Formats: sequence, structure tokens, C-alpha cells
Amino acid sequence: MLKDNHGRTINYLRLAVTDRCNLRCFYCMPEDGIDWLSRKDLMSYEEMLRISALLVDNGVNKIRITGGEPFVRKEVMSFIEDLSQLNGLNQLSLTTNGVLTGGYIKRLWDCGVRSVNLSIDTLDRNRFFAITRRDELPVVLRTMHQLLESGFAVRLNAVVMDGKNTDDILPLVRLTKDLPLAVRFIEEMPFNGSGIEQSVPEWNYIKILDTVKQDFPDIQKMQDPPFSTSYNYQIPGHQGTVGVIAAYTRSFCGSCNRIRITPQGMLKTCLYDNGVLNVRDLLRAGSTDGEIMSAFSNAINNRVKDGHEAERSSVHESMAAIGG
Ligand code: SAM
Ligand code: SF4
Repeated sequence: MLKDNHGRTINYLRLAVTDRCNLRCFYCMPEDGIDWLSRKDLMSYEEMLRISALLVDNGVNKIRITGGEPFVRKEVMSFIEDLSQLNGLNQLSLTTNGVLTGGYIKRLWDCGVRSVNLSIDTLDRNRFFAITRRDELPVVLRTMHQLLESGFAVRLNAVVMDGKNTDDILPLVRLTKDLPLAVRFIEEMPFNGSGIEQSVPEWNYIKILDTVKQDFPDIQKMQDPPFSTSYNYQIPGHQGTVGVIAAYTRSFCGSCNRIRITPQGMLKTCLYDNGVLNVRDLLRAGSTDGEIMSAFSNAINNRVKDGHEAERSSVHESMAAIGG
């Protein structure tokens, strides 16, 4: 069992398999992209599998594959299938933009993936283009329906941005009437890869929730699952649910059970830290399993209390280089 210096158990790994992406969401990266990692700097599948297996042996029972866009990395599906074989891994899920995902739905299901997070910030094709700089909304919506029809639990993530998609909050909420989706609104975080300091987002979770409540005054608070980063609600008569994620406000750090490994193999014990251990170099230096786990334990034992403490030294990179 991995436990941090604040008594929090770590059982959840977010593994970013690439920093590359086929969209250019403006809150995540500049239009020209970022300085992509070269292949040698990227963790290999063998390296990611070894680290994942070690962590699963030490109490991690949930892994989420993320990126960049996972499906732009060659052979990622075979890697996901290999991961799914790990004994002790109870939950394997992924976060994807849905552009290439449709071609992998059966293989995902067959290897035991049951839950997919899909990023859709708007239901309007022009706004989707303005936000992602690509005209892919119809494909992404098709993926969403295919996933639901195939039986996946689908969480739809929408970053709320002042002046960009606040008119989409209610249409996205209305989707939950007939579809069993968990629509989750995320506060915009300062990881747009531009190097420019972002001001405090005007649309915090309270304002987002107030907007929903104006149209749906009978919305009801649900019991949040343990370690949930979202506050969850349901509108009577709706099949799906609505959540808000205070990602900028950081009100959920007290129960944080997750660590992250970035595409270049940095361990982050907080989304807002700069990376606290170079796992890739440790592996490439020929470290034994014991040495690797002791480096992990040490990093986890020196974990910041919350994202505000971590941010004091943080340089804000692109979310694609972290994994969200
Ligand atoms: N490409 C995949 C996708 O978009 O779903 C996975 C990687 S993406 C970095 C993971 C999540 O981070 C997405 O839901 C995305 O909306 C979110 N994200 C990216 N940049 C963000 C930012 N600046 N603030 C809040 N969320 C952000
Ligand atoms: Fe790509 Fe996801 Fe970042 Fe959008 S949020 S640019 S889809 S990595």
C-alpha cells in the first residue's frame, strides 16, 4: 500500500502515453502545438508496463490512460490490452477526445474497459471548431453514441470558459435527460502551454452550478463516491447526472488518491507540481524493482498537502504534457 505523508492512500494512476494530439484545444495548447517529445524521450510501452505492474503490486488498482490524445500513439490499443492483464488492476479506463476512438470500441470492451471520459466542450459545430481548431464534432458525437450503445459508462468532460462556451452549459445538461451520461463541467486550469499566466477563472464551480440551478431548480445533490473530484447532481426524471469539478479552486485535495506519470516519465504527486521523480531515467539506469519502489515511496512521503502549496513553484505547461 502506498500512503502519503498526509495519510492519503494512493491507489490511482493516471498514465499519459503521449503529448501529441490531433486537436488543438486552446485551453490546452497553442495553435501550432507544443515542442513535441522525441521518441527517445517518451516512455516506451515496455517501460510503462513495468512501472504499472510494480505500482499495481503495491496497491494501485485503478489506471486511467490519457495524454495528449492516447489514440494518436501507434499501437496504443495493444498496450491497453497488455495493461488489462495485470493481476490486481480492477479498473482500467481512458480519457479521449473521441476523434479516433470509434475504431477501438470493441477491443476496449473486450479487454475489460468499461468507462470512458470523452471531452466535449460544446454541442455547436462552429464553437467546437473555435475551441479545438478542428472540425470534428460530428465524429466525436458519433463516438459518444457508439460508446453508450455498447454499454460503456460515459463521462462527458466540458471545460467552461468565459466568453467561449458558457452558452453550452444548459444544452449539455439537457443531454442528460435522455442519455445516461455523466456530464461534468471543469473549471479552466492554467495549463494552456502558452507560458502566459492565466487569471483566476470567472466561471468557478459555484457559478457553473448556479447557472444550472436557474433552469433546473429541482436539481438534487447526490452522494459523491469516495475520492470523487466532482460534486454530483441529478435532475429528477433525467437518466444522466451532472457534475462540477473544482479543478482550479482545488477543494478536493484532502482526499486525493492519485498520482500521475507524464509522457516523458515524470512522476507528479500533484497535478500542480513540476514533477517530483524522473521515473524514466531511473528505469534506464538499470534500477531494480526495489530501488524503483523505494524512490516512489520517498516521493509519495514528501507529497505536498494540496494544489495551492504545489503551485507556488509551478511553471504552467500544456495539459497535453501532463494528462489532465
Ligand atoms: N486528449 C484527451 C482529451 O482531451 O480528452 C485526453 C487528454 S486531455 C489533456 C485530458 C483532460 O484535460 C480533458 O478532459 C481536457 O478537457 C482537460 N484539460 C485540458 N486542458 C485543460 C485546462 N487548461 N483546464 C481544465 N481542463 C483541461
Ligand atoms: Fe488534445 Fe485533449 Fe489537449 Fe484537447 S485537451 S488539445 S484533445 S490533449
